Amino acid sequence: MTPVRVLAVASEVYPIVKTGGLADVAGALPLALKAHGVEMRTLMPGYPDVMRMLGGAGEIRRWPDYFGGPGRLLAGSHDGLDLFVLDVPHLYARPGNPYVTAEGVDWPDNGLRFAALSRIAADIGHGLVPAFVPDVVHAHDWQAGLAPAYLHYDNRPRPGTVMTIHNMAYQGKFAPELIGSIGLPWDSFNVHGLEYFGGISFLKAGLQLADRITTVSPTYAQEIQSDEGGMGLGGLLRQRADVLSGILNGIDTDVWNPQTDPHIAYRFGAEDLTFRAANKAVLQQQFNLDSSYEAPLLGVISRLSWQKGLDLLLEAIPTILGDGMQLALLGSGDRDLQDRYQAVARANPGRIGVVIGYDEILAHLIQAGSDALIVPSRFEPCGLTQLYALRYGAVPIVSRVGGLEDTVVDIGEASTSDRAATGFKFAPVTVEALTGTLRKANTAFHNKATWRRLQLSGLATDVSWRNRAGDYAVLYRDLVAARRT
Ligand code: ADP
Repeated sequence: MTPVRVLAVASEVYPIVKTGGLADVAGALPLALKAHGVEMRTLMPGYPDVMRMLGGAGEIRRWPDYFGGPGRLLAGSHDGLDLFVLDVPHLYARPGNPYVTAEGVDWPDNGLRFAALSRIAADIGHGLVPAFVPDVVHAHDWQAGLAPAYLHYDNRPRPGTVMTIHNMAYQGKFAPELIGSIGLPWDSFNVHGLEYFGGISFLKAGLQLADRITTVSPTYAQEIQSDEGGMGLGGLLRQRADVLSGILNGIDTDVWNPQTDPHIAYRFGAEDLTFRAANKAVLQQQFNLDSSYEAPLLGVISRLSWQKGLDLLLEAIPTILGDGMQLALLGSGDRDLQDRYQAVARANPGRIGVVIGYDEILAHLIQAGSDALIVPSRFEPCGLTQLYALRYGAVPIVSRVGGLEDTVVDIGEASTSDRAATGFKFAPVTVEALTGTLRKANTAFHNKATWRRLQLSGLATDVSWRNRAGDYAVLYRDLVAARRT
């Protein structure tokens, strides 16, 4: 196997900085790729948390003026990940969320901040670091979207480029004037380059100019080629369908392992699933829910946004209450949804428990203690929480979109498929379909043998990166071979 060197470019990497699934992927894929002969290093911005955790990182280069202030490129490692860190304090030394201010608005200079990241990615692509000259530059999401663009417009021999979409809804749109301050030529402002409905889009640039495009599930790869799913980029993706593919996300099965998980109250495996009851009791306590083994406990771990369909779940609360179920929701996001969930929790003590915030440890306990995990997304590129649920014996109840469609086998589907049922899927994404499915799941829950079968099939599902990483390795190798000929 010829080794392949890949520079991944990501704006968040677990366990260092995480706001969503992108971080999980960026953190797990490099480790899984080692077994496939791929040497991956990841470039990320030097946010305060990164600088703290990579105290011992070595300086590779230093610039007195990098995009308007002093900057350095560092190399270091953390938890098995080999990292390049772009330390540019005037762009990244800001506390909190990497993208937004404490008030929740985008940093006004996000265009500059992430252009700077992409610029250095392209330079590493050209050989800035002689010890690591990549064969492929792999850009994740809009924050890295200009990396393929810089490599394209630099007009020099270059590595292959891959652009991965984790969520089509975030496109990195800016005013065209930005081009003047980020070192791209003005002729990049056209429909074959950065131009997007009169402005510019970093994601569009990456999708237009990368050699290969991937997204995080086969169904989402189809959906984004439609006008609705493509959110403005469907036409471009239809044109580039021959280089677009969907590779399902895996999960880090060491971090998410119910047999060794330090964050849960009682550890368990397939043979001692009954220990889940003890986790359920602790979860009920933490969410101030009535302690009851017989009431099905529904869990949710999610950003609270329109995408995630949690406004529909609010409307299904009467069904949850009327049918004797309980709900434990952990999430943060839209103020309106936060307020509404807190209000239903106040109105229904013992039955509905809500924690607003981001809590990695509580997320593990919800997976270990809830009977079912609900993901009612309107669209979902891949989704990770249903994969954790499968691994923890929480039966997923999901909408039939994107990666949810690809990773859960519906109870009614098993007879026509060679795969065993692992959960429940509903379509269309409406309150009626959701409540109908919640009722169906409630009935199945009270049939212990049926429920146990669903749980065991979930536990037996391969949700690891092993095979999925192999698909990326094949993609990189094909790309390198294609560029040689
Ligand atoms: P997205 O990236 O669209 O937010 P994913 O399902 O792909 O959705 O990934 C979400 C990740 O973030 C999962 O690892 C999930 O456990 C985690 N997560 C989401 N909300 C919270 C929260 N409030 N507390 C802890 N973890 C959360």
